[in-house]
Amino acid sequence: MATKTTNTRKKTAKKPAANEAAQNDSKLKEFFIDSLKDIYWAEKHLTKALPKMQKAATTEELRSALEEHLEVTKTQIERLENVFEQMGEKAVAKKCEAMEGLTKEGDSIIEETEDGTATRDVGLIMAAQKVEHYEIATYGSLVQLATTMGLEDVASLLQETLQEEKDADIKLTEVAENNINYEAAQEGDEEEEEEE
Ligand code: FE
Ligand code: ZN
Ligand code: FE
Ligand code: FE
Repeated sequence: MATKTTNTRKKTAKKPAANEAAQNDSKLKEFFIDSLKDIYWAEKHLTKALPKMQKAATTEELRSALEEHLEVTKTQIERLENVFEQMGEKAVAKKCEAMEGLTKEGDSIIEETEDGTATRDVGLIMAAQKVEHYEIATYGSLVQLATTMGLEDVASLLQETLQEEKDADIKLTEVAENNINYEAAQEGDEEEEEEE
């Protein structure tokens, strides 16, 4: 009797649960595709923003770091197109308000700092690291989501990009530590001296 009750319960519970699971799966997939469209727009937008930042940078070290990441960004765009293809979806870009805001911040840093100063580079590095952190958060979540959905190939493609964003962040920290923050502090001192 106990067995019979369990069976009945299973039977009645199973059908809606399977339906619900399927619905959740397609909703999750929809959300995943939407997030891909967002980061696709963001990466494309960065191919326009990074050259501006590169041009504005003071040191050769920062210029080359930004140039290198521009090339990496182009391959990330292709990788996303590959992901869309694997998902059987058209690669469509959907405006990412966050990335637009972050790059606008980069623009205002350029406006507010003087050409050829270490302070300019400090500001650019900060702006670029905010971008990298946004990307790290996004790709980190996307890798997790792809794994949950059982999309192993997609997850490993996105993992490659995630690693590149982390490397870019580390590189920017190194550039800042190497000399720029020190030079910017010196710049501040000089200005104070001039004012006295
Ligand atoms: Fe990127
Ligand atoms: Zn975004
Ligand atoms: Fe967004
Ligand atoms: Fe990046």
